[in-house]
Amino acid sequence: MITTDKSMLFDEQIVPISALQHYVFCPRQCAYIHIERVWDANYLTAHGDQLHERVHSTDAETRRGLRTERGVQVCSESLGIVGKLDLLEVKQKPFALTPVEYKHGKSKISDCDRVQLCAQVLCLEEMREIMISKAALWYWQVRKREWVEMNDPLRAYTREVIEQTRALLAAGHLPHAEYTPGCKGCSFLDRCRPKLKDTSTRFSEALFACHEEAAE
Ligand code: SF4
Repeated sequence: MITTDKSMLFDEQIVPISALQHYVFCPRQCAYIHIERVWDANYLTAHGDQLHERVHSTDAETRRGLRTERGVQVCSESLGIVGKLDLLEVKQKPFALTPVEYKHGKSKISDCDRVQLCAQVLCLEEMREIMISKAALWYWQVRKREWVEMNDPLRAYTREVIEQTRALLAAGHLPHAEYTPGCKGCSFLDRCRPKLKDTSTRFSEALFACHEEAAE
């Protein structure tokens, strides 16, 4: 639970910003990575790692009044989150900060990437005492920058996700698998086997229902 006492908050679970993205994509995937500390790679994750390495390997530079900084560490003491920005654009006149998060694929229906970006913005706002109205996602597959408005609903949802993710990490359990279209691209598919678990859950429920009926 979020507390307003900052000194107490840091004694509680600090949530990595990347965990928020994983949580929105799938709480079970988040638990594999951040509770069980396991990682399964597939083509998509390998390509994503390569992309991030490339982004982070370039030094900071300034061109036409725009400074770009890579791998910038951020945190929010009040929210208890920490993370690293792929890229931070710093414009001097007028002063503006724009975090840019690099992603392998293309824009998703799910808010997972937008929540991750919003959490970065919340950190920067607290650290630099400024307001940021928009930030960007850059998708490699379509080579396109998507601007994300930092509106109130996204900020509120991101705060909710921070709470939910902290609760998941504190509970320390692997949630049940639930098959979704996102499972097809998930690198944990072989380990997780969500269809099998769905089936076995339905089977046990049917079995219990059958026993209950027989006992009546
Ligand atoms: S396979 Fe599906 S249910 Fe399992 S961790 Fe991945 S996204 Fe979640």
